Amino acid sequence: MYFSAIGQDSHRFEPEGSGKPLTLGGIIIPGCAGLAGNSDADVVLHAITNAISGIHGTPVLGRIADDLCLRQGIKESAVYLKKAIEHLKSCAVVHISISIEAQRPKLADHLSAMRESIASLCNVPVAHIAITATSGEGLTAFGRGEGIQVFAIVSARCE
Ligand SMILES: [Zn+2]
Repeated sequence: MYFSAIGQDSHRFEPEGSGKPLTLGGIIIPGCAGLAGNSDADVVLHAITNAISGIHGTPVLGRIADDLCLRQGIKESAVYLKKAIEHLKSCAVVHISISIEAQRPKLADHLSAMRESIASLCNVPVAHIAITATSGEGLTAFGRGEGIQVFAIVSARCE
């Protein structure tokens, strides 16, 4: 049996010069302000984590991740994603489709590295990770460069 679920997340940029790096899909993107949040604010991994929660119904961000972040000081969103994957139990992720809306930074040159990083974290072939990025053309807060929004659809095969 197959299940599919959507996840979404958005974060505002830190002010320029805050020193926080921009982490997207588990990689650091140089030359752009980081995103605000208690963790590394990896909005791509958060959207994927939320989609995986949509498969198994156990909230990870806001609960398990808050505990890891606020009590144990774990800021890496990759750890939260791993927790979400653990809850899949008899299900296995087979495909992830990711849609990013960001006026900045330009992501085209980083998409293949992001795909490889996400494939490795989720134990899925790179060919089963698809990412599109749009600029938003000034229409939304994300299209005006105030932050980044991501949607992810995760498909999983379940026993
Ligand atoms: Zn988030």
